[in-house]
Amino acid sequence: MNIILLGPPGAGKGTQAERLVAERGMVQLSTGDMLRAAVASGTPTGLKAKAVMEAGELVSDEIVSGIIGEKLDTLSAETGVIFDGYPRTAAQAESLDALLAARRRRLDHVIELAVDEDALVARITGRFTCATCGAGYHDTFKQPKEAGVCDACGSTTFKRRPDDNEATVRTRLAEYRNKTAPILPIYEVRGLVHRVDGMADMADVTKAIAAVLGE
Ligand code: ADP
Ligand code: ADP
Ligand code: ZN
Repeated sequence: MNIILLGPPGAGKGTQAERLVAERGMVQLSTGDMLRAAVASGTPTGLKAKAVMEAGELVSDEIVSGIIGEKLDTLSAETGVIFDGYPRTAAQAESLDALLAARRRRLDHVIELAVDEDALVARITGRFTCATCGAGYHDTFKQPKEAGVCDACGSTTFKRRPDDNEATVRTRLAEYRNKTAPILPIYEVRGLVHRVDGMADMADVTKAIAAVLGE
């Protein structure tokens, strides 16, 4: 199974992908995570992407489609894939079609996480992750069970993204509105889009997605 999680920054894509990985053994391909890893290790791609990401703008279609293609080639044919944060433009949607076709993969579902823009700034400015395993948390909406200790791995170091500040979030939301939301009709005409209420509690969002994906 190959699915896309589509929604603005803070919609809950990473949160839900984390659960699908744990419960279904799918693999999450997050272009944001891959780009942050490239920035951290100072690769040529990372050097190109750093300032663009800090500004909240989109990295070039060639770069992101290139890294997605490379990752797909490391997976066995049976492994289910969750595309998280990709595609984000019409050109990326086209590239994804070609990348999947070349590997005899089919796109099964596009899950649209629908959220109020007003809620997103609070979600993003409160977001943090485990520095060791990447598990996601929130200052208000999802604190670790024991303060300062990761539920998943017991680590006590956490990190926040440099672009998770209010000014950058406004730019990222505008990028979503102008470049990403317009790709939904491409998938709607193919009957692939399922709209899920992303404002619901995390567990209810998980249930709604499970209902779409089936057993
Ligand atoms: P969020 O989880 O908040 O939606 P991401 O982690 O997906 O954010 O992306 C962080 C940043 O990485 C984006 O603001 C953008 O600069 C870059 N990026 C990630 N995915 C893509 C993509 N598919 N196309 C272009 N830029 C991307
Ligand atoms: P995205 O990957 O779409 O940018 P995340 O999954 O990282 O979004 O979620 C952004 C922040 O909001 C995280 O801190 C997460 O814990 C929190 N969050 C995710 N889903 C919900 C929800 N349904 N209700 C409240 N907070 C949420
Ligand atoms: Zn952890």
